[in-house]
Amino acid sequence: MSAPFATPSLAQRNASRRPIVELNDDLVNQIAAGEVVERPAAVVRELLDNAVDAGASTITLRLASGGVRSIVVEDDGVGIPADELPLALRRHATSKVASLADLEGVATMGFRGEALAAIASVADVAITSRTPSADHATRLSARTGELSPAARAVGTTVEVQELFFSTPARRKFLKTDATEQAHAVEAVRRHALAQPGISFNVWADGRLLHAWPAAAPATRLHDVLGASFSAQSVLAASDAAGLQVHGHVGVPDAARARADLQYVYINGRFVRDRTISHAVRAAFDDVLHGARQPAYVLFVTLDPARVDVNVHPTKIEVRLRDGREVHAVVQRAVEHALAVPRLGVASASMQGAADANRTDADRHETGLAGTRLANAHASTNAWQGDGRPTQRGLPWDSAQRASAWPAVAERMATYNAGRDDGSLQPTIDDAVDNPQAWPLGRALAQLKGAYILAENQQGLIIVDMHAAHERIVYERLKVELGGARIDVQPLLVPTSFAATALEVADAQTHAETLNELGLDVTALSAQTLVVRSQPAALANADPVALVRSVLADLAAAPASRVVERARDELLATMACHSAVRANRKLTVEEMNALLRQMEMTERSDQCNHGRPTWRAVTMKELDALFLRGR
Ligand code: ADP
Ligand code: MG
Repeated sequence: MSAPFATPSLAQRNASRRPIVELNDDLVNQIAAGEVVERPAAVVRELLDNAVDAGASTITLRLASGGVRSIVVEDDGVGIPADELPLALRRHATSKVASLADLEGVATMGFRGEALAAIASVADVAITSRTPSADHATRLSARTGELSPAARAVGTTVEVQELFFSTPARRKFLKTDATEQAHAVEAVRRHALAQPGISFNVWADGRLLHAWPAAAPATRLHDVLGASFSAQSVLAASDAAGLQVHGHVGVPDAARARADLQYVYINGRFVRDRTISHAVRAAFDDVLHGARQPAYVLFVTLDPARVDVNVHPTKIEVRLRDGREVHAVVQRAVEHALAVPRLGVASASMQGAADANRTDADRHETGLAGTRLANAHASTNAWQGDGRPTQRGLPWDSAQRASAWPAVAERMATYNAGRDDGSLQPTIDDAVDNPQAWPLGRALAQLKGAYILAENQQGLIIVDMHAAHERIVYERLKVELGGARIDVQPLLVPTSFAATALEVADAQTHAETLNELGLDVTALSAQTLVVRSQPAALANADPVALVRSVLADLAAAPASRVVERARDELLATMACHSAVRANRKLTVEEMNALLRQMEMTERSDQCNHGRPTWRAVTMKELDALFLRGR
């Protein structure tokens, strides 16, 4: 072996060992900066935080070369007194918390007094500020420490030039100016969504990119995320266990290939929180194919003492003291929002968002966040093959599932028997007189045995007959059989198998849940589990594989979800078997009955696999097809 890779001898090490010394302030600041300031967008985030904390009503950001050359943030907040300016740049100097008690209830964005010091250690910083009582502004250059009188209205301007000029190694990690700029603008977007009462202006290389005037929250949402998101989202709101959840959730149709439109705020602070994203995902389980990403903007408000924001350098991760409660409330809020059928709204229109009123936020969508076309492709691809995406979850094949649950099978037999003599009979006779009031319109005809064509006030409605009926039956089964138990069959010979310590622990924690699923699993030793029963329908399945996969599921999701999902999967299969088949001729009355049932069924806008059950083609779109009115 050649010498360079050989381990140094103890003598060599001792010779090269340096004594312990305190790091000098500069180095400490630079190390802190490494945690807080990884790119221009991080500087933007910190400066916007400060402007918001200062009570600004207008904030202007100016970027040059993606923020690498220069970042300037101007605000009209309270300002910094001239004699405090040098302190603002000092590490651990803050006006926001004075005691540990303050820290526990912190309501401001900043509190560590670290950001300006960190930024000043890796860039050339100047602050110009004026308080209401000062008769002129004062400018502090961080490099020289020099204070000088300056002209400025009340408020603060922070200029950050040549980021990482003194740490070229860091500068090398930066991406292209365009990418850095996109991230910086995304940082403004995050603040702008949470602060609709503040006007934001974003300039890049002398060009005005965005101007978001102070507005009502819904208008701000539209301005920042575009017409398509506001048209294709529903309101979510909930208030329970001392915490409020409110916001907008994109309908399943508006789901994306990437998780790039997911904004979560806790007490106004943008965060990435696994508990909350998991709760949202769980709420979408039933209406969205696993690979698609929901779009949402959610604000969670709770007592600041219930959340620890001081766990991450950039505060983007927080620690919730009662995560389970938050999970439950968020999941419920989103589930409720999604359950209401959204008939007659733009969500299922052929065009999605009208191309005519594309805003700059739409352009953002096609730029930074991946193209819409790409999304469209992704969604088509997901439904290729036999048109039925594989669902995540328990390894039950459909034949096994079909007989898994005698109660369900019995129920299905009734539905199936009744299918041709009235399962689609009209249910609300009095509404028949008032077709105007039907969101899904009046049935006109059946197309190729697969689609129902209907006419409503806006134009044409096309319904995927099988998909729609499947959802209706499924929702009905869920209500009727939600509490039924799965049939259990004891194994003739109990099977033991070597398990990991984690599997043994999970099996013990979740013994009850496993039981509910028909699995009797106990620990024989620290490394051995034994299975004594399994669901009757799975008598032929490999019990070890089954237990392993259920345990894996339990490790990933709350136990109640696993049971619910196993049940739901079973019901979905049942529903699919019993729903009207393609090519079955329906009378106009039957078609109308199906439309009316859709209007009354929760989640009827999607089939059980997340595909849409209906689409609308408005008169405007039809006219455009025929070039009318041009
Ligand atoms: P923190 O925000 O955690 O207190 P910073 O380093 O970001 O730490 O800022 C230090 C201090 O400088 C703040 O506590 C605040 O008093 C003052 N400050 C910074 N930016 C502004 C601003 N835009 N307007 C008013 N005061 C500011
Ligand atoms: Mg700050």
